Amino acid sequence: MSDKFSVTFLGTSSAPPQVERRQSSIAIKYKNHNLLVDVGEATQVQMLKHKIGFSNLTILLTHLHSDHTLGLIGLLTTRSFYDISRSITIIGPPWTSSFIFLQLLAHRLNPDYEIKVIETNGGLVLSNSDFYIESFPVSHGVNCFGYKIVSHQSLGVFNVERAIEKNIPKGTMWKKLQNGTPIEVNGDIINPSEILDVSPIKPIKIVITGDTPLDEHVINHSSNADLLVHDSTYPHSEKLRAKKHFHSTCTDAAFVAKIANVNKLVLTHFSELHNNLNESLKKSKEIFTNCILAYDGLTVHV
Ligand SMILES: [Zn+2]
Ligand SMILES: [Zn+2]
Repeated sequence: MSDKFSVTFLGTSSAPPQVERRQSSIAIKYKNHNLLVDVGEATQVQMLKHKIGFSNLTILLTHLHSDHTLGLIGLLTTRSFYDISRSITIIGPPWTSSFIFLQLLAHRLNPDYEIKVIETNGGLVLSNSDFYIESFPVSHGVNCFGYKIVSHQSLGVFNVERAIEKNIPKGTMWKKLQNGTPIEVNGDIINPSEILDVSPIKPIKIVITGDTPLDEHVINHSSNADLLVHDSTYPHSEKLRAKKHFHSTCTDAAFVAKIANVNKLVLTHFSELHNNLNESLKKSKEIFTNCILAYDGLTVHV
């Protein structure tokens, strides 16, 4: 199982349709967890194309604009067609619950699985043994949230051979050592340092902004992130239009990446006003070098 996050861009356009780009959606895989950030119109087809399962899935909605949500009811319907009984968790802004259940009602859909909805106003939205997720508000003119996904720090690499040599039963005992807690086996105390190889692994931090203008909250939350995925709806020349529509230019995104000292920046959510994306990339790189353009199907490993 890989210790890296894989981040696959399923849709990288802004709201109006484009031939080569689908609407917003990003699939994130880490160990046995699968997250989907936003579910634009063609998300299901893109999931099939990129072999992303419909069963084991947690959905994060940045906001309820249609270019981020039109694929959701279709996805929920398909889960019913596939007879999936596993529950699904959907995290989103206030109103997400009404938004989903009104659509279920309108479509006469009564799934056999549970839909757990968590509405966020910012803060911790999910935590498990491998990572946690926090949301933070961004100024998109509607309730809109960026998400920060952070893996837990590992104290060192677990040496399986050594654990077997010392007859430590697999399961809870292994977990305790991984978390830095000493254990007792047949009367002997075993310290984590005896089983964990040094070189602790530092947490991995990914920030996905959703739709946002240049925003102080994004800078604060992106501080030292390994990966920042930032709204880049407009080219550098459209600063005023970006401000008016609560979006960013590609150079706004680069500025955020630079000030927040992130490692890598991916630009996404492109409108057709970028008549030369390579030029937009060049402009952004003048501010922040480690920057790439997202395209549908791009996977980044962090
Ligand atoms: Zn959008
Ligand atoms: Zn929007």
